[in-house]
Parts: sequence; structure tokens; C-alpha cells
Amino acid sequence: MMELERHEYDVVVVGAGGAGLRAAIEAHESGARTAVVCKSLLGKAHTVMAEGGIAAAMANLWPEDNWRVHFRDTMRGGKMLNHWRMAQLHAQEAPDRVRELEDWGALFDRTADGLISQRDFGGHRYARLAHVGDRTGLELIRTLQQRTVALGIDVYMECTVTRLLTDEQGITGAFGYWRESGRFVAWQAPSVVLATGGIGKSYKVTSNSWEYTGDGHSLALQAGATLVNMEFVQFHPTGMVWPPSVRGILVTESVRGDGGVLKNSAGNRFMFDYIPDFFRKETAETEDEADRWYEDKKNNRRPPELLPRDEVARAINSEVKAGRGTPHGGVFLDIASRRSADYIRKRLPSMYHQFKELAEVDITAEAMEVGPTCHYVMGGVEVDPDTEAARVPGLFAAGEVAGGMHGSNRLGGNSLSDLLVFGRRAGAAAAGHAAGLPHRSELPDAALADAARAALAPFEREGGENPYTVQHDLQQTMHDLVGIIRTAPEMEQALERIAVLKERVANLSVEGHRQYNPGWHLALDLPHMLVVSEAIARAALAREESRGGHTRDDFPATDAEWARTNLICASAPDGSVALTRQPLPQMPSELAEIFES
Ligand code: FAD
Repeated sequence: MMELERHEYDVVVVGAGGAGLRAAIEAHESGARTAVVCKSLLGKAHTVMAEGGIAAAMANLWPEDNWRVHFRDTMRGGKMLNHWRMAQLHAQEAPDRVRELEDWGALFDRTADGLISQRDFGGHRYARLAHVGDRTGLELIRTLQQRTVALGIDVYMECTVTRLLTDEQGITGAFGYWRESGRFVAWQAPSVVLATGGIGKSYKVTSNSWEYTGDGHSLALQAGATLVNMEFVQFHPTGMVWPPSVRGILVTESVRGDGGVLKNSAGNRFMFDYIPDFFRKETAETEDEADRWYEDKKNNRRPPELLPRDEVARAINSEVKAGRGTPHGGVFLDIASRRSADYIRKRLPSMYHQFKELAEVDITAEAMEVGPTCHYVMGGVEVDPDTEAARVPGLFAAGEVAGGMHGSNRLGGNSLSDLLVFGRRAGAAAAGHAAGLPHRSELPDAALADAARAALAPFEREGGENPYTVQHDLQQTMHDLVGIIRTAPEMEQALERIAVLKERVANLSVEGHRQYNPGWHLALDLPHMLVVSEAIARAALAREESRGGHTRDDFPATDAEWARTNLICASAPDGSVALTRQPLPQMPSELAEIFES
């Protein structure tokens, strides 16, 4: 038998972002022996990059705010494709999760009355995002991490899970490797919580970091679980476009929330030309009214720059396509001419430094150049809304890797609250599942040996392809053919290219040793990236309508039948992605009434 480190737990959480840490804390506090495994160092997860804030109807600035309004905004932002029960739980529980974070030591910015301050974001009717400057994710992670460590939860960091282990009863554990030494490790556990975040690295221009290769989505499929609505990928409207080395890095929506406006090369505030009927009633019609809103939110409607992200991203795309873009293919985001330098430096310190250091642009004196960037995946593991249980017994998913909560488009700030609400629920349910099992399954040697063989295969081949070339070609394919605006012929071409890329991945080879070998790590990530890309392309080809983050040039309208339909991805016997249609869960009448009023 090969050399293998073995551990035994009740609950193993894969991922140490907000969702993973919150799940681990809850599982531990429910009495489960719990471990967290993460690819990077603890504290380095994607969550740390979150800037603008965490959405919760705390009513600190607007007494009119409550969970019903938040629920309504979330469903409307997702173009009603959200799982109503997830959106309800999220809106109801988010305020408690923020207060709990504060009890655990998080220091939020305050109002003049000493309450937690809340800021405006696109699609939220009231100022609702609790924040810490534009570094909210850092505070959230710091707080959860400190608690995880204080509780004595075991953390395996710089450790990648490559396979989930199952038997006929469900989950039995997970298999992975230490990134530094390349040595293998297995965790025997009846409950696994996937909290692995997003998929952005399948695209060429993205705000996501190297870790977001869709591992959890792919591991879930392999284990027999399903994914829901993978066609919905969010392109954030404002990423940096220049210089090329930083293209895609996020420019927070707070810039617009705090007064920044979008202009084309002719200096026009073009968003007024792109107000959809769906949002017309609540959006300002003139620049004067939009500007007055910043001072008097009660008596004016919000600026069109704060429409949901899908609307703003499509508008920017159209302006650039029409030849009204900036020299580097974006549009201008101007806060310099609208707010004092002191205000900008105080409210947006990270943005100020980001542009100064990376682009040599002083955002207190000149406009930024921005354009859409692949940011977030709304699709993900299909879960039960109350427990986050996937279709495989013992498997749970929370955070960005899970689907359903955000429908076809996520509102800003709703991810951080999602992580806490559903991370907590997943941790409790995972602990409950483990405690309720009459016996534990051993990890069979044959399955472990097979997982090890698969991981080492790239070393066995000689003269095969370099993983970086394949990654580059995949990112270009997704960027060119399954991006912000989609057509059937382009997506068919993408699927053909993905099929070829799969063959190329089966022939990858890497050189050197197992000790910290990034080429090998990428070779193991690539099959995940391909399966996720296939799921996105297949689902996007099937959904013949435009809705939220999914825009079809050949089907530009929303469609009543598709409004009632979810697309479910499963793994086919030949390893490809199989699609089925499933009716949307029916919203109960007491919630449906919220929309009628
Ligand atoms: P992540 O925080 O992405 O963590 C994933 C974890 O899984 C990591 O620890 C990673 O190492 C681990 N992992 C992945 N694969 C494996 C594997 N195979 N084995 C072991 N470990 C693995 N949302 C908001 O609500 N408000 C904001 O202001 C906001 N700002 C943002 C700004 C930026 C720049 C970005 C990129 C996103 C922002 N978002 C924001 C979105 C939000 O940050 C993410 O959706 C959220 O943090 C995802 O959290 P998560 O816990 O699901 O996963």
C-alpha cells in the first residue's frame, strides 16, 4: 500500500472561505469532530477579497427595511428564478448572522448613532450593506478564522481535495494531497461540506483568484450529486481594463453607491439609455433626480448606475461595441469630479491604492477605465434549502459552490450573507447526519489506490501537453464563445472545443517532482475546469431566452416557460454532462403576495 496519511472525523469541510469556516464552527458547536481543508493558507480564501459589504435588512438607516423587502429585492434581482425558500431564509436570518459576527469581534463601520452603518448597493431598495470601509471580507474572515482557531478546529491548509469517496450509503470521506510535499492524505468522514467557492478561472478575464477552478462543482458531480442552473454566470460590470496584467481585477460597486457615475467616450451618462421596463418605476429618469437621490433618498429614485449587475454589464458591453468605449476597451467610472479627495480616500481606501499602485491612476483626480469581468457563478450544487444537503447522503454544499439562492443574477452583498446563513445551516445538518448514522464505513484501499493513481498519472506520461497551454485555450474559448452575450453557433463551437480540450487533458504531462509543483497542481485542476465549462456551455445552449446573467443574442427576451424551469446537470456514464429540465419550486401564496403589493 502507498504511503498515505489518514484521519477520521465526523464532518470534513472542504474550503475555508466564509461558508466553510461558518459551517465548521457550527458543526463543531453541534458536537461533531470537525476538520477544515483548504487549498491556500487559512485566511487567503476568496472571501477575504470581498469589498463592499454584507447585505442584511437590519433597518439601521431605514426603519422601513425588513426581511420581506430584502426577499423581494433578491428575487427580483435574480429575475424570480431563485429558490424562494433559500431567498426567504437568507433574508430572515442575515441580520442575526451579522450581529453574531459582531459578538465574535467584528468591527463594522458605525452610523453617527453608533449603529452598524449600512451602504447602498445595486438592486437593494434601502441602504443595506454592513461594511468595514471597502475591506469587509477581510474583517469577516479575520473574525471567523479567529473563532475557528480558538475553538481548536483542525485545519489542513495548502491541501487540495481531489476526490470525494462514497459507497452505496453515501459519503465516506475525501482524498487529497499536501501542496508542499505532494504527499497524499485521506479523511474518513460520513459528512462532507463543500464550500469551495466559484469557477472564475475558466474565463480569461475574471476578478477571481487562482483557487477558483470549480473543484467543488466537479467533485459533487463525480460523487453523483447534481448542479442547478449553471448557465448563470455573473459578469461584474466594473473590472479594471488597464494595464493588461491587472485586467479583470474588481472595482467595487461601492464606487457607484458612493456617487461614482459611468460615462462613455463622449462624456454621456449612458445608463439612462438602458433602464429596462422591469426596473423603470424605481429608477431616476434624469441626472438631476439621480444626483438628488444621494442627498435625499426618500423623495428621489435611485440612479440607473445602481441597477442590478447584469443590466449594467450589458449596457457597458453595448457602449463599447458601439464604438463609444475608452482607449483600452472599457467605459469611464468617474467619482473624482463628484466627491472630494478626502471623501474618496476615506470611503474607498482599497480602490484608491489599487488604482494608484496597479494603474498609476489617482481616482481622486481622474476617471477610472472599467469593463465587465467574470465574477461569480449563480449556478451550483443543487441542495435542500433548509439543510444544504445535496442528492448524495452525507454531502452538503454552502456558499458560492451551492446553487439556487441567487436565481439568474446575484445582488451585491448577498454573497457574504449567503455564506453565513447557509454555512451555519450546512454545518448543523452535516453534524446531525454524522450523529444519526448507526455505523461508519471504512475507506477501501482500492478506492484510495485508484485516487492516488489518477493524481499521479500526469507524471507517468512523457511528451504530453503542458497544462498551462490547455488552460490558456480553455479560458480563451469561454471568453470568446460563452461570455456575456451568447449565440447558439458560438456555444456549439465551444462544446466542440471543450471535447477536444478533454482529450488534450487526458494527455497532459508534467515534469519534476511532487514537491511544490504548480504545473502538477494545475494538471489536477484542469479536469474540474473542463467539466464546469461544459456544464455552463450545455446549460447556456439549452436555455433559449435571456434572463439575468444569461444573455442570448438569438433569444433576447425572457420566456414564460423558461421562467418556470430549472436546468439540472448530472454526470453521464461517459463522463460528459447530462442536462434535464425540472419545474421551479412553487412559491407559497403568502410570499407571492409580497410581489403583488
Ligand atoms: P471562498 O471564499 O471562495 O473560499 C473557497 C475555499 O475553498 C478556499 O479556502 C479554497 O482554498 C478552498 N478550496 C477550493 N477548492 C478546493 C479543493 N479542491 N480542496 C481544498 N480546498 C479547496 N460578495 C459580497 O457579498 N459582498 C462583497 O462586497 C463582495 N465583494 C467581492 C469582491 C471580489 C474582488 C470578489 C472576487 C468577490 C466578491 N464578492 C462579494 C463575492 C464573495 O466574496 C464570494 O462569493 C464569496 O466570498 C465566496 O465565499 P465561499 O466561502 O463560498 O468561498
